[in-house]
Amino acid sequence: EKRRFLDPADGTGEDETSLRPLSLGEFVGQEKLKEKLSIFIQAARQRGESLDHCLFYGPPGLGKTTLASIIAREMGGQLRVTTGPALEKTGDLAAILSNLEPNDVLFIDEIHRLPSNVEEILYPGMEDFSLHIIVGKGPLANNICLTLPKFTLVGATTRLGLLTSPLRARFGIVEQLSLYDETELAGIVARGARVLGISLREEAAAEIARRSRGTPRIALRLLRRVRDVSEVRGLVSVDGAVAVTALDMLGLDSSGLDEGDRRILRIIVDLFDGGPVGLSTLGAALNEEVQTIEDIYEPYLIQQGFIERTPRGRKATRNAWLYLGKNPPAEKQE
Ligand code: ATP
Repeated sequence: EKRRFLDPADGTGEDETSLRPLSLGEFVGQEKLKEKLSIFIQAARQRGESLDHCLFYGPPGLGKTTLASIIAREMGGQLRVTTGPALEKTGDLAAILSNLEPNDVLFIDEIHRLPSNVEEILYPGMEDFSLHIIVGKGPLANNICLTLPKFTLVGATTRLGLLTSPLRARFGIVEQLSLYDETELAGIVARGARVLGISLREEAAAEIARRSRGTPRIALRLLRRVRDVSEVRGLVSVDGAVAVTALDMLGLDSSGLDEGDRRILRIIVDLFDGGPVGLSTLGAALNEEVQTIEDIYEPYLIQQGFIERTPRGRKATRNAWLYLGKNPPAEKQE
């Protein structure tokens, strides 16, 4: 339960829709991506075409679904949301595709987990907006080809490397989302507070931003927890002090590291003398799945300069030693 509120992949339990920016202008950060996207959207609209299929990759909770909904809105279509694992049978996808309207955006989260037979149905759909299905069985089977309206597929994945190359090749726009910096996160928190009607002092927004692991979803979740504490205390506005108290209570230190992060650093430093240590060895020592370490913990620890990837495995930086209150060994200083 303690981990849940820090899990960037868990979007359940809260109404995130109300906090979703409706236009690229309201979407904070990811400046280069926004600039490109707004040009592509404008160009597609001028030509009266649908936007090219987009693939967004990066850690969870950075706004991939939000971008898909903004694209749908700007293109004048509806957003349809599904996930790779939910599309078990070819018929599941065929049903969705055949119900699309022109300029709709079909968002497939975790697209790397599409079953391969379902993926194959998608190819002609993406390429020339046609749907090939086989109706019936054996000698009576019939090949049916339907023309689909011009739609945009937006795929999201945390792991670009797991996409098959034929699928990846069918996206015209492939963009990475990166972790947000503190200023951007403070902006997202301030905006969230406005939407939720919370009076939030600037220093409180900064405090939340500092501890949200570069991830808007976590920042907004922490905002709600801070609001809880402040309401229970009968405060009119959320100030820095109550933010600090609430965040400390949640086990987050001022670098935004939680117990899980600290455990990883301690294991690399104490057990493996600072590394390098291979990812699977690290997983075994932590009793965590390699994928969890790679997707959830590592991006933030790397962004904050606590660990680095080397060809021989993960290595604790000088910062990590100092963070743990230890003297970094001389040869580990560079
Ligand atoms: P996942 O990959 O797990 O589906 P996601 O990247 O699609 O996650 P979203 O659901 O789009 O994440 O975003 C999570 C929450 O953070 C939403 O409430 C969204 O409104 C907010 N959010 C995300 N990015 C931004 C941003 N750049 N500016 C403002 N709010 C944002």
